[in-house]
Amino acid sequence: MSIVIKDKEFEVYLSADEISQRNSELGQAISRGFAGEELIVVGILTGAFVFMADLCRQIDLPISTSFIRVSSYAGTESTGKVRSVLGLEEKIEGKNVLIVEDIVDTGISMDYLLKSLSDLNPTKISIVTLLHKPEAFQFNYALDYVGFEIPNKFVVGYGLDYDGLGRNLPDIYQLSTP
Ligand code: 5GP
Repeated sequence: MSIVIKDKEFEVYLSADEISQRNSELGQAISRGFAGEELIVVGILTGAFVFMADLCRQIDLPISTSFIRVSSYAGTESTGKVRSVLGLEEKIEGKNVLIVEDIVDTGISMDYLLKSLSDLNPTKISIVTLLHKPEAFQFNYALDYVGFEIPNKFVVGYGLDYDGLGRNLPDIYQLSTP
């Protein structure tokens, strides 16, 4: 099925059912990985808000949750510009942090975030990202939990937007090739 958002056409790429199934697997892996440990789960706004809400409910541990903001995108091309990290209220010193991201593309935003959070001396920082574009990734740091590795094409839906639209779509759509 295809949809049009503003000037662009998108095709369904991952269905809500596929995403839900993968979230359950990720939740189980995270629950095993942090069993018996204290964990702060930090969602990255805005794109990860839908994934964060679903993933949290698949983690069978007494977690605390928080949201922060870091942004590097305008339109369908990465600008490579990263703004500051905003909104972390919990003290993360001496604690395990799990960053929840919608997508790691070039990895610039996550690199910045890792450096910023490391300055606050957590015990360990782990990453879960629903989507990852290995072809675009410019770094060597580990992505501990990856939902789906996807081609280097723009995607929208399930929290991800195209110029502010499409975040509420239950499925994930990929930009149609012209
Ligand atoms: P990176 O710094 O890894 O290049 O990009 C990180 C941010 O760019 C993501 O958190 C996301 O907000 C945005 N982004 C990267 N690729 C896509 C994409 O294909 N679609 C959408 N909607 N946003 C993307």
